[in-house]
Amino acid sequence: MIRLYDTLSREKREFVPQDPKRITMYVCGPTVYGRAHIGNARPAVLFDMLARLIRNDFGPGSLVYARNVTDVDDKIIASAEAEGVEPSVISARYEQHYVDDMGALGVEPPTIAPHATREIGPMIALIERPIELGHAYEAEGHVLFNVPSDPDYGILSRRDREAMLAGARGEVAPYKQDPADFILWKPSEEGVIGWDSPWGRGRPGWHIECSAMIHNHLGPTIDIHGGGLDLIFPHHENEIAQSRCAHGGVPLARYWVHNGFVDMGAEKMSKSLGNIVTPSELLAQGHHGETLRLALLSAHYRQPLPWTETLVAQSKATLDRLYRSAGEAQPGEVAEGVIDALRDDLNTPLALSRLSQLEGGAPKASARLLGLLGVSHAEWFQGDGDASSIEARIEERALAKKNRDFATADRIREELKTVGIVLEDGAGGTTWRRE
Ligand SMILES: [Zn+2]
Repeated sequence: MIRLYDTLSREKREFVPQDPKRITMYVCGPTVYGRAHIGNARPAVLFDMLARLIRNDFGPGSLVYARNVTDVDDKIIASAEAEGVEPSVISARYEQHYVDDMGALGVEPPTIAPHATREIGPMIALIERPIELGHAYEAEGHVLFNVPSDPDYGILSRRDREAMLAGARGEVAPYKQDPADFILWKPSEEGVIGWDSPWGRGRPGWHIECSAMIHNHLGPTIDIHGGGLDLIFPHHENEIAQSRCAHGGVPLARYWVHNGFVDMGAEKMSKSLGNIVTPSELLAQGHHGETLRLALLSAHYRQPLPWTETLVAQSKATLDRLYRSAGEAQPGEVAEGVIDALRDDLNTPLALSRLSQLEGGAPKASARLLGLLGVSHAEWFQGDGDASSIEARIEERALAKKNRDFATADRIREELKTVGIVLEDGAGGTTWRRE
């Protein structure tokens, strides 16, 4: 039985899907105007792992996982103008980077990846509903959701009105009836990407995109809605308000799962703070995608994750150990201890510590649930054929011999042999050459 912490009810709850043969999960995906950073990769890896767990427990075909691509947005438009190209050039480029970067971290593609620019019809249809029902209004080419019209507004974030307005103060647009009102549709100026609508030529607001895609692809109520903590307010609060008001008050999602931030020192990693580290940089430095994936899973997902060089080095060492212990053995059965830890609100630190205690082929099957140990032993140690890491292994072997641990010493010799390195023991110590 899987248990998940639900942000809406503020408690860990047993996961009981509406239909165990068609479990629905939606995760807010990337706005494709720049390279993803490690903080952006955390939800991608986390929900990829949750998808693996659900498919393990309910069956391979049990889950429909949708993650959207926001391919129309003011930042994309600004980048396109700066480069003198169409917005689609920017969004296609960074979507491909996103797919490649996440793929390197072992993130499998979602079942569906709806694109905002291909869902304008469903978005317009969804905007019309709250207008008809008196929850939204048109003003100066904009359509706005009227927050005071929804008595349940704030149920997810539990913010009071003061806190909700804190960000809006001083810059309230004149066409808003209430300062908390948010945009469903906005006009596009001449020469800016736009679509015809009952309210003139324009483009959708960001929040409506997710509500429309959820309704269009998954249904009025989904099982799991996921994303980073920073999306709780206003994004997910707004999704709930517009979806419930449009669909007769049915809940939008039954479980709300939010991951914590990746920190750089004392600050959250963010593009606007300029303190980002990207998977593409780390991969270019020679780190393996699995090392970064393990680093992202090393803390519990609801906790902040401080990103440091030490964390990356420790993750590599952990994987080296796991690969050595698994060797070329065939994957065994998934270990109950590991899967139980994951079923308990995705307790990855506990799952990883239990994984480290397994021997032989046993870690392999369990590690696959976490998206680890996906390459062969030889492939994993291939990059280790550089001089400094060979010297380090020789030292490790000398120490093992000194401790009369000849099994380890022999294993290191064999492992180096698999990557084409031959050790020769002589009077002056051990030397090496390439085969
Ligand atoms: Zn969303």
